[in-house]
Formats: sequence, C-alpha cells, structure tokens
Amino acid sequence: MSHMLSQSSSPLRRLYEPGAYQTAELPRSFWADSVGTLPACQALPASGDLKTDIAIIGGGYTGLSAALRLAQSGRSVSVFEAGRPGWGASGRNGGFCCLGGSMLSWGNLAKRFGDDASRQFARHQLAAIDLVDHRIANWQADVDRHSDGEMVLAHKAGRIRDLHEEARELTHFAGIKSTFHTVESLQEQGMNANGIAGGLHVKAGFGLHPFKYLAALHKACLAAGVQIFEQAEIHHIEESTNNVTLISGDCQITADQAILATNGYSAENMPQWLAGKLLPVISGILVTRPLNDSEQREQGWTSNMMAYDTRVLLHYFRKLPDGRFMFGGRGGLDATPDGQQKARAVLIDEFHAMFPAWRDIDITHHWNGLACLSQSYRPFVGQVNGYQRLWASIAYHGNGVAMASYAGDLLARKITGNVTMSDIGPVMGLPPKRFPLSGLRRQYRWLAYCAYGFYDRFL
Ligand SMILES: Cc1cc2nc3c(=O)[nH]c(=O)nc-3n(C[C@H](O)[C@H](O)[C@H](O)COP(=O)(O)OP(=O)(O)OC[C@H]3O[C@@H](n4cnc5c(N)ncnc54)[C@H](O)[C@@H]3O)c2cc1C
Repeated sequence: MSHMLSQSSSPLRRLYEPGAYQTAELPRSFWADSVGTLPACQALPASGDLKTDIAIIGGGYTGLSAALRLAQSGRSVSVFEAGRPGWGASGRNGGFCCLGGSMLSWGNLAKRFGDDASRQFARHQLAAIDLVDHRIANWQADVDRHSDGEMVLAHKAGRIRDLHEEARELTHFAGIKSTFHTVESLQEQGMNANGIAGGLHVKAGFGLHPFKYLAALHKACLAAGVQIFEQAEIHHIEESTNNVTLISGDCQITADQAILATNGYSAENMPQWLAGKLLPVISGILVTRPLNDSEQREQGWTSNMMAYDTRVLLHYFRKLPDGRFMFGGRGGLDATPDGQQKARAVLIDEFHAMFPAWRDIDITHHWNGLACLSQSYRPFVGQVNGYQRLWASIAYHGNGVAMASYAGDLLARKITGNVTMSDIGPVMGLPPKRFPLSGLRRQYRWLAYCAYGFYDRFL
C-alpha cells in the first residue's frame, strides 16, 4: 500500500497546457447552459479502501455506457470521473449522432483489413446509431432530436467527384443509399452556404443535444445501481494476480476489472501503455443567438439538416431547434488563453466566410474540447497489453456520440463474455501503436494543419 501511495503522488502527464484539464468547474457551453444540473454524485472519501466488481475511469459516453451494461448484468460498478459526468467531450460536442469512428477512408480500411472486416466495421457504426436511437426511445428522453441523416457539402467543384466516390463506398461497405444534390437543389431545401458546390445526403444518423443525452444516460446508470464518484481523479493503476487497484489521493479502490474510458483527456502515463499512442486534438464550437425566420431566409439556410463540408479541416454545422446556429471546426493548436482567443477568431472568420449574411449576428457561446485520434486512425476496444484485468475503449476520431456509446457497451459485453474479439473485429480490436517520434506529436499536428489547409484551399 505504501508503495502504491508513493506512486500515486506522481503527476499525470498530459499533452496540452493545464487550461485543457481544469476539472473543478463544468466548462461553459450552450449545452451546459441549456440543461439543468445533473443530480450530485458521491465524492470519494479522502482516504480509505473501496471495493467494487468493475471500476471505470471516465464519466463520458464510453464510461457510462459500459457502466450501464455491466450494472444490468448484475455486477457492482463504480465510475470515477475527474470532473463531473459529461465534463469531457461528451458534454461539449456537436451532437452529430452519425457514422464514423475512424479517420481511414473506406478504401484504406479495405486495403489494410479486407472487405469483410471493413463491412463488419460499417455494421458496428450503424449499430452505434441504432443503440442511441433505441436508448432515447426507451428512456423517452427529450434530447432535441432533429435531422434525417446528414448532408456532406462539397466545398468546391473539385470535391464533387469525392462525393460520388463516397456514395459508391457507402453502398458497397455499409449498404447505405445516399443521394446527390446540386447547388440548386440544396438551395431549394434551404441549405445555402458560400462556396458549396453540391451535397451528398447520407441517410444515417440524427442530431441531438449532447448534454441532454448524457443526462439521460447518467439517469439510467443511477437507476441501474451504478455508483458514480465525481471530482475523483485516478492517479495510478496497479494490477496483481487477484485484482486491480486504482489510486486516487489516499483512497484505494480494489476491483476485479477496470476500464479506461478517458479518451482525449487520457494521461500519457496512466497506464504507461498509453504513452505516445494518442493524439488529442482541440475542436471548437460557436453558437449564435436564435435567428428569426427572416434572418434564416436572408442567408438561405432554413433547413434542420445537420451538415459538414469536405475540407480535411472540416466544418460541421446545424441549425438548432430553437433557431440558433451551431458551427464547429478546429479549435487551435494549444490550450493557452491566448491560443484559444486566436482559435476563436479564426473560427468566427470561417463561419462568416460560409454564412456572410450572419456577420452581424451575436455569437453567444464559444467553447472547445479534446477529441481523440490514435496512431492507427482507428478506435480501440479491448484489453490493455500487459494487463489481464484492464480494458480500454478509446479514440473515436471526433465521432463518439454514437461510437463511444456503442464501444463502451461493446466492451462491457466483451467483459461479460457475450461477445468475442472476433465479433469486435480487427478494425476496432487491434491496439494502436506508438506514434513515431511521439514527443513531436503537437508539432506534426501543426505541420499537418498547414498541409491540409493548403490542400483544402488550392488543390
Ligand atoms: C468540440 C467537440 C465536438 C465534437 N463533435 C462531435 C459530434 O458532433 N459528433 C460525434 O459523434 N462526436 C463528436 N465529438 C467527439 C465526441 O464528443 C467524443 O468522441 C466522445 O464524447 C468521447 O466520449 P468518452 O466518454 O470516450 O470521452 P470524454 O467524454 O472525453 O470523457 C472522458 C472523461 O475521462 C475523465 N478522465 C480523464 N482522466 C481521468 C482520470 N485520471 N481519472 C478520472 N477521470 C478521468 C475526463 O474528466 C472526462 O470527463 C466532438 C468532440 C469535441 C471535443
């Protein structure tokens, strides 16, 4: 015990500046402002021992989804969250409940894993949307749902070819039919944005209020008997033959199994296995005041369809049910106040460039959060190498509303023996490797942003 406590005092090593990890307060966002506070959870005792069957680190969609399934299977389950549940990306995202999870194109996935494994991954993505859909229906949760699928908008004529290719691949791998729309057709449907050259309507997914969904998941967890501890940062994990021990300050938690559900907020050294494998990236969102009908018509965007563009450094946007407009994109390269101010200004410029009629409309909210890439550009659901009792579900590449919910649930089903690693498949089941020269990940990111920016603009 004394050995472990001395290790617990070692600080968690993270990739960004401390500003990205201030868990004392829920970050201000339109979502947090428009939903009541979650019922208070327990605080960890300052010292002492706790015992649980399953200990889960991280109280976002992944952790709570795994917790729900495991509690329903009769295990005692405890979730340890450094802030409040939903403090991380799950309480701050764009609310696109959609396909995704990997940054590899269908073509690259098929080259690496073959058609069957790529189709299996497509089935997981569709099942992920269905899971959220069913949860919302079963819980009769009001999550401000809207949008029948999503529109991918070509940001220049040269990208129309890519939309047609995407349509073919979606049919081939996922069995999804998508429909191409010309600019005129988009305008008729109330989707007019500067520079767009056409769109592909992908008939899968919907938009939701991410914090209302999180709150419904949280409620379901409490009803199923999950114990949720907030302001409970875990500092160290240690496994022995009979159990796994988590340390938080002077508190020691002993469990049969533990799950790492920390995604973009993971520490490099907890466990050491993570070192150099993930690349958290900052994504930013702004929200305007509600736009009245004539303001919406002035820009020509009246649709409730959620949309994103074909830029590599993409923008994602949708009109919220109360008429506000939400616009998201990259959130800069650092988490310093200065870096965040600059990123905000860039995002606003990009918003105005696409939606010039709304140049003078007040922006009431701006915030950012960490999404998570891995070296393999695929999610990972499975056992942590070198451990028998530690599992992880991480790296959804900015698409975790559906996928994190599903991956947490899938991992829980693996732990209860209801799915095998071959059901999970190689795309999600093979662990990520370390980035080469991993200490330079943020510098790569900077170079990549420069290169992608050039590609999006000029090629
Ligand atoms: C701005 C933004 C917009 C996005 N938009 C979309 C979108 O529209 N659609 C979509 O599908 N996806 C989107 N995403 C991605 C999506 O939000 C994430 O993939 C998803 O929320 C991941 O859920 P999670 O539970 O794995 O991680 P998170 O929700 O990030 O939760 C991880 C939690 O772990 C906790 N934690 C970390 N370390 C510790 C520790 N040592 N001890 C205890 N707790 C710890 C953190 O406090 C955090 O709350 C977006 C992400 C961002 C940042």
